[in-house]
Amino acid sequence: MSDIRNVVIIGSGPAGYTAAIYAGRANLNPLVFEGFQKGGIPGGQLMTTTEVENFPGFPTGVMGPQLMSYIKEQAINCGAELIMEDVTSVDFRDRPFTIKYLSHEVQTHSVIIATGATAKRLHLPSEPKYWNRGISACAVCDGAAPIFRGVELAVVGGGDTAAEESIFLTKYGSKVHLLVRGDRMRASKIMQERVLAHPKITVHWQSIPIDVYGEEIVKGVKLRHAVTNEESDLAVGGLFYAIGHSPNTDLFAGQIELDATGYIITKGKSTSTNIAGVYACGDVQDHEYRQAITAAGTGCMAALEAERWLSAM
Ligand code: NDP
Repeated sequence: MSDIRNVVIIGSGPAGYTAAIYAGRANLNPLVFEGFQKGGIPGGQLMTTTEVENFPGFPTGVMGPQLMSYIKEQAINCGAELIMEDVTSVDFRDRPFTIKYLSHEVQTHSVIIATGATAKRLHLPSEPKYWNRGISACAVCDGAAPIFRGVELAVVGGGDTAAEESIFLTKYGSKVHLLVRGDRMRASKIMQERVLAHPKITVHWQSIPIDVYGEEIVKGVKLRHAVTNEESDLAVGGLFYAIGHSPNTDLFAGQIELDATGYIITKGKSTSTNIAGVYACGDVQDHEYRQAITAAGTGCMAALEAERWLSAM
């Protein structure tokens, strides 16, 4: 592939595919990298979601993977070219930019970064042994699994995700323990009220998980009290992490301006980064809204901005 591309899009969630739809319709012949490395499968976080009820256009909701397959098909129909490979390095120092991937490399005048974010883990000592055997970072994806039905479950975190996932898990577990490391929750007031009023949820304040134990699957969590340091065991059949997300920006470190938590900094209301011709959209630059529709919206913005920039070159 020796031709210089107009635009390369890295990432295949709602932001990346929406950028591809707009860039395709603008006859920019976009090349999209659908990576595996971070999310495990192309399509981003919606691939591990069940029902999406808040994406406009689907009055009775739509399954996450189905929504992604629609958006992907639309991107292809609009002229996007897709490569299902991970990008291994980028070089934004010289123009045109160089994007290396497992089997080759490509040069491009502009780049749209849409690599998203990944759920954080606690890295407990026994986490590798029990990952997917009782530990999960996504209640919505895994909560309905047979091992979690009818048993007591624990959720770690004190934000809106932890609150939402605790309530969600009451559908499957006999009881849900919410483990909050501080003496207050960060979740919105309404979510806190719902959690505290829920008959199947018990909040454990100042409780820090230090390990899990079990046999083939998780049988419990070892806790340490944040103030007294006292250790205790909580017998649960599942531990769900809801402690926030990390942006997938390792690939760009040292080349693009990132904030203190690793998110790409975009200028004002735009998707422009500190490098002319490089744009960022979706969760990789948004730690606030993190919705499929906002990711798609910023994907559209990135494509329009790249188009304008290319036509002024
Ligand atoms: P947040 O960053 O808001 O919260 C993370 C939580 O995890 C905090 O309570 C934090 O504790 C806790 N935490 C972090 N690290 C650890 C650790 N090592 N051990 C124990 N606890 C830990 O992330 P969320 O994913 O909850 O939310 C992100 C954004 O998305 C927010 O703006 C939220 O409002 C939004 N959101 C909105 C929803 C909605 O409106 N329906 C649903 C879900 C998310 P501490 O407070 O002590 O720092």
